[in-house]
Amino acid sequence: MRLEHKVALITGAGQGIGRAIARHYAREGACVAVADLSLAGAEQTALGIVAEGGEAIALQMDVTDEQAVNAGVERLVRHWGRLDIALANAGIQHIAPVHKLDYADWRRVMNVHLDGAFLLTRAALAQMYENGGGVMLYMGSVHSLEASPLKAPYVAAKHGMLGLCRTVAREGADRGVRSNIICPGFVRTPLVEKQIPEQARELGMSEEEVVRNVMLKHTVDGEFTTLDDVSEVAVHLAAFPSAALTGQSVVVSHGWHIQ
Ligand code: NAD
Repeated sequence: MRLEHKVALITGAGQGIGRAIARHYAREGACVAVADLSLAGAEQTALGIVAEGGEAIALQMDVTDEQAVNAGVERLVRHWGRLDIALANAGIQHIAPVHKLDYADWRRVMNVHLDGAFLLTRAALAQMYENGGGVMLYMGSVHSLEASPLKAPYVAAKHGMLGLCRTVAREGADRGVRSNIICPGFVRTPLVEKQIPEQARELGMSEEEVVRNVMLKHTVDGEFTTLDDVSEVAVHLAAFPSAALTGQSVVVSHGWHIQ
């Protein structure tokens, strides 16, 4: 097992990619704090882990709420005594062209991804610096490295998370903290299922065309990235034994984006 005796916190782990990574971490021996806006979702993930023989607790946490993030981190440290791995994964999407984008929608997306990543980072680093080190991880996207139409706040926020990740790699190095960002292509989660009809409407094409000609057009094999693909990268980055791998963006996108 690659994460034995490690304590991990994953935000937005009540469904989708976060839930899949939480399960993989637990199978690799980690104790996992499953945080989500939705307590029901977090509890379902945690119960699933416990049913498989793993160790998990559910935390209700809005990543945009400073007090909630600090309190959640404190709670898990009271429970397990430390924090080794923190993954800023919570996210939302909003589809609209820039000239029709409401300021409120811009702010909402930036707030969850970028402010949320900052709040988690600050709370987690305080614990990691006390423990002598740890691993900060960010759920970026291919959109941390390139743009698509209709996703301005998402693309801007994901680029911002790349900058935060790189800064933490520099600042955290002499305190034993490594920091990396995972950049997946399209994964069929509720976040993506919701945007297929929205993009079809905006672009005047069928849903099938959105999948084939927008989402998967530039992959090498016409395949969605899977939950297992992303989870494997997340385990690898969490378990990597040295600072040889820090400040990096790891793209897992079936060749959509080749760096
Ligand atoms: P999802 O919608 O299935 O899950 C997102 C989770 O985040 C939900 O459980 C939701 O309740 C939670 N969440 C939303 N706002 C929150 C908040 N303020 N505080 C705490 N939790 C909150 O989405 P997903 O596809 O699993 O996405 C997870 C992450 O992966 C996101 O950061 C997303 O941008 C990123 N990502 C997804 C894809 C993809 O194709 N699905 C690709 C690249 C990156």
